[in-house]
Amino acid sequence: MKRKELENILANLEERTTKDYLDWVYDNWTARGEPLEFVKHKYLEQIYKDQSREIVYCKSAQCGATERMITEALWLPDQFKENALYLFPNTGDVSDLVQERIDEPINASSYLSYVSGRAKRIAGKQADKVGLKRMSKGFIYFRGSNKATQIISVSADALFIDELDRMNQDNVPFFNKRLKHSRRKWLRWASTPTIPGVGIDEKFQESDQHYCHVKCNACNTWQVLDFENNIDQEKLQLVCRECRKEIVPWEMEMKWIPANPDSEIRGYHITQLYSPMLDVKELVKESLKTDEFNKMQFYNQSLGLAYEPKGAKITDADIQACIREHIIPFKEQKEPVFMGVDVGRILHIVIRTKKKVIWIGEVKEFEELDLKMKEYNIRKVVFDALPETRKVQEFINRFKGRAYRIYYTGLKEPKKDEFFRRDGDKVNTDRTLSLDYSGNEIKEQEVELPKNINDYTDYKSQLGNLIRVIAEDKHGNKSATYVKSGPDHYRHAQNYAFIAKGIFEETTTPEAFVL
Ligand SMILES: [Zn+2]
Repeated sequence: MKRKELENILANLEERTTKDYLDWVYDNWTARGEPLEFVKHKYLEQIYKDQSREIVYCKSAQCGATERMITEALWLPDQFKENALYLFPNTGDVSDLVQERIDEPINASSYLSYVSGRAKRIAGKQADKVGLKRMSKGFIYFRGSNKATQIISVSADALFIDELDRMNQDNVPFFNKRLKHSRRKWLRWASTPTIPGVGIDEKFQESDQHYCHVKCNACNTWQVLDFENNIDQEKLQLVCRECRKEIVPWEMEMKWIPANPDSEIRGYHITQLYSPMLDVKELVKESLKTDEFNKMQFYNQSLGLAYEPKGAKITDADIQACIREHIIPFKEQKEPVFMGVDVGRILHIVIRTKKKVIWIGEVKEFEELDLKMKEYNIRKVVFDALPETRKVQEFINRFKGRAYRIYYTGLKEPKKDEFFRRDGDKVNTDRTLSLDYSGNEIKEQEVELPKNINDYTDYKSQLGNLIRVIAEDKHGNKSATYVKSGPDHYRHAQNYAFIAKGIFEETTTPEAFVL
């Protein structure tokens, strides 16, 4: 027999002994001591059966998506000589989750504890590290997405991204490079959403958007369950949107139907409304909270929907309200002028006086900035220090005392009205705090925008692409951060120009405002 034939036979044999994922889960998996059941969790059945190449789960809290991901991530290296990489937002999340959600079920299963026990004997210490498990044939790696160095060393066949919206979005484009050397290239994205157009909401919009339809046993109406139409807030019941009779999702006929069938990416919207754990009373209670933080929690965590908090970004109405009589480019002869520069492949620039925005635009080279310095007689200019540090440094050397680079490093115990701290040509600021200040200047119409601002469409849209969100960490501490929903260069340039004005005011006596 030729070697090739032998290999084929062995490959076929391997194929035959491969256990179907759902059977594997039935036979081996328990959650909190109980085997998974699909009678009451009927909505999860198709989700377990669907092993498309790329899947997006946009979900409310506690509806079974993490379990779905973990089991597949263990099944794959148990059945194939392949590796799974499972990403969490932070390295600190890894050991908690592995102990609670993975070690327990493994120890509860005689097969899985045999497999990982045998792996331990073969691989020694290597298989016993937190964050790494060896299964029958391959490995599963658990990693925090915040440490790029921890991710780039791992090459995988299937990538599981859990809580995408809590991850630093700048790292996300690098994730699927981990699949470069694989033929399988499976991708799984899961998260509760946060704001529209960001993270999982953006991915779900790109997907084929499966929603779960159920058929009322009383009136035969097919419907997708939602809070507004299916919760009776007086009787505290889940009801049919048509006949208002109480309904029980797992006792109804059920179909997942794509709303955007042309997409090649599979997407599921999963909410608590289908879950046997649904607590209608609690849900209604949460829906009545009116502050923006709790409202956002209700939409995101309970309903699995993105929500944009009110007042969280600069709107077009805010911009229109700032329009005054001048037209840009505008040459200011009497007042000192300041410039903010967002450094990237292109330099995005905002030039202003104390009150007016007088030039907005892009240039490619730092040399062109020299010309702007002269043309507008700019007194203070602020750059972001990263990434082009060398060119920024050369510029600062050319314009000593007028040019500064800024770091969004945070301010320790800022005093009242303090939003930056200067040390020579270095300026430190808190990202959220300074964006609050420069954003409020627009919201309160304390800065004047030109009559022709509507010609500057990039500037206008980019001002609105940072959204202020209050997040809570696992210790319950709340803090505000700005989340990017699209290109935000001009929003930062605006912020830097505002800080440049602040530096001038701090370093100059008030009389200097009149030249
Ligand atoms: Zn009905």
